[in-house]
Amino acid sequence: MTPPRKLHIKSYGCQMNAYDAQRMVDTLAPEGFVETASVDDADLVILNTCHIREKASEKVYSELGRLRAVKDEAARKGRHMNIAVAGCVAQAEGSEIIRRAPVVDVVVGPQSYHHLPQLLARAKSHGRALETEFPVEDKFGFLPAPRPDAIRARGISSFVTVQEGCDKFCTFCVVPYTRGAEVSRPVAKIVDDVRRLADNGVREITLIGQNVNAYHGEGPDGRTWSLGTLLRRVAEIPGIVRLRYSTSHPRDVDETLIDAHRDLPALMPFVHLPVQSGSDRILAAMNRKHTVSNYRRVIDRFRAARQDIAFSSDFIVGFPGEAEEDFLATLALISQIGYAGAYSFKYSPRPGTPAADMQEMVSAAEMDERLVRLQELIDSQQSAFNAAAIGNTVDVLFERAARNPGQIVGRTAYLQPAHVMASPDIIGQVLPVTIASLERYSLLGELATSAQAQGAPATFSPMTTSQMTTGA
Ligand code: SF4
Repeated sequence: MTPPRKLHIKSYGCQMNAYDAQRMVDTLAPEGFVETASVDDADLVILNTCHIREKASEKVYSELGRLRAVKDEAARKGRHMNIAVAGCVAQAEGSEIIRRAPVVDVVVGPQSYHHLPQLLARAKSHGRALETEFPVEDKFGFLPAPRPDAIRARGISSFVTVQEGCDKFCTFCVVPYTRGAEVSRPVAKIVDDVRRLADNGVREITLIGQNVNAYHGEGPDGRTWSLGTLLRRVAEIPGIVRLRYSTSHPRDVDETLIDAHRDLPALMPFVHLPVQSGSDRILAAMNRKHTVSNYRRVIDRFRAARQDIAFSSDFIVGFPGEAEEDFLATLALISQIGYAGAYSFKYSPRPGTPAADMQEMVSAAEMDERLVRLQELIDSQQSAFNAAAIGNTVDVLFERAARNPGQIVGRTAYLQPAHVMASPDIIGQVLPVTIASLERYSLLGELATSAQAQGAPATFSPMTTSQMTTGA
């Protein structure tokens, strides 16, 4: 029997990239690849890159420099290591990577992961392979079905892609160029995927897409279904106890989504709704296609539908032309909304985007100072939100054994880690936990007695900022 080949994927950036990494593992499994955590003994290393961060391509080249040494060392030991670059930097700068980095064997854009086996074969016969075109065929039709053992190894929470691409063209964002136009998967395929995941132990599903609430997939009735309608269908699948979705655009929040939050207990009351700025002038320059008051109205509609709902958001400080009064408007919006958490970034230009040609740059010192002020405000809201959980009883979906012996860790409705001393038998169950204390972003508590659980008030607890998001 041929020994398995080892695959190491280093993934950066958004949830979509994390999901894509799983997709690549599933695509390569039939070729005899198994994942390894160690880059040194890998036969194939894939850098799954992100173009959102500042100096993204420089970071890729310096990582490739490190990998060249690892590849040379493998060659000295008589072993051939392939190196592939995937993700949005590959999509945006594929030919340049091939030109500048001879160590790279394969460059593959996000629309072409299903061709990885053929690209590796082409690299073997021709030396290198590059594929970054958007395919003409259905880009979701060939998603590999993960094997049951792979699903079980990934735990009780899983992403399912429902939509890819974005038509919004915010002036700072590369996604419409790297991921292409919005495309939605048919409902039947999503339901099949979720069923397979549920049959193999998954209890929580996050439906993902760059602009997930622009979902417009074909339903089994031949009509176009919205995200809200899709969520209702997925909530019916036996075994699925929690549903989430990410990332949403304020303009695409429709009544079906609001109603889904009102009606579906499995749909978690925690919405990531990027706003980016609290100034209408800057929102217009960003081409966000919504105003501050539109955004506030959307928040109000969610809150009217579900009182325990909480929000996180994305903010960019120092967008070209952002004056102090624009920034103050952002702080004012944050104060009005009250977030459970947020991701905040200093603006940095992305080559090829309209904002990259804008002239009125905010100085680095001003950006630094604004980011500190904004993060202080968000941190204080997040801390207050965290502290509100202490003394309350909240539902926790238990995921795995924690690092501390005897502890099991799970997540609240608001993605907050919660630890209890308990038997591993509780993994996969949603159980009430009485929260005793808070350690940084983690809640510590005890499994509640049924009397405590019945009398428990609804509580909030905020997310951690460990999951970076991209999109919408
Ligand atoms: S920021 Fe979001 S909505 Fe705007 S172009 Fe990028 S992915 Fe689309």
